Amino acid sequence: MSTHTEHAEHGGDIRSIMTGEKPKNGHDAERKLNFWERIYLVEIFKGLVNTFKMMFRPSTTIDYVGEKSRENQRHIPAVGYRGEHYLKVDDSNNIKCVACFMCSTACPAECITIVGDQTDVDQFGAQRFKAPEVFEIDMLKCIYCGMCVEACPKDAIAMSTTYNQVGTKRGDFIFDKARLLKNNDEFMESLGLARSGKDKDGRYPLSPDGCGPDVTHGVQPFRQGVRQDGA
Ligand code: SF4
Ligand code: SF4
Repeated sequence: MSTHTEHAEHGGDIRSIMTGEKPKNGHDAERKLNFWERIYLVEIFKGLVNTFKMMFRPSTTIDYVGEKSRENQRHIPAVGYRGEHYLKVDDSNNIKCVACFMCSTACPAECITIVGDQTDVDQFGAQRFKAPEVFEIDMLKCIYCGMCVEACPKDAIAMSTTYNQVGTKRGDFIFDKARLLKNNDEFMESLGLARSGKDKDGRYPLSPDGCGPDVTHGVQPFRQGVRQDGA
């Protein structure tokens, strides 16, 4: 709400609007242009000099996607950052997910689709309890809340620090099982870890959410890749 004082301060402007007179002082007062300013040539030349000067300065922007980042401009996500999801595998390269639907039930955005497969056979020919035949996350609906990670009883899903998602069509953002496993491989490789998340000392340095130090050092059985059937 304007006050009497404010009206008084802007009295000159209001009076000039009402009377059509030019204001006598203040920032709205019209400044007289000199001859060189009126012909604009000098000002145009000044502008061109400025443009040419900028052409030889290092660019402060990047041609994103083509040029991902520069060392001094790289965004380093904080510990606990929730980026792209990945599906984990155990030491035998079996997917850890058992298609229990806990994550999709917990997901507030309802963006996880799972179809369970009871007939999955691992590389040793042993039948597993359950595994997902279809596991999809619609990243366009995801709100990156991390509830799916919290809900998972098998430490099978986590979120990496990958934040730069780029696509040209909606389908690029429907992450299927293959994409989520590929995310796992790429993230582990970037951290210098084995596919299962194990380091060279046989420890699991990532926390269950996938992006922080593991305070339990992998002592929990499921984190050591031991399957539910004990094999
Ligand atoms: S991060 Fe949240 S919204 Fe995204 S899939 Fe997981 S539970 Fe759903
Ligand atoms: S990711 Fe975890 S919570 Fe989701 S279905 Fe698989 S085992 Fe269950």
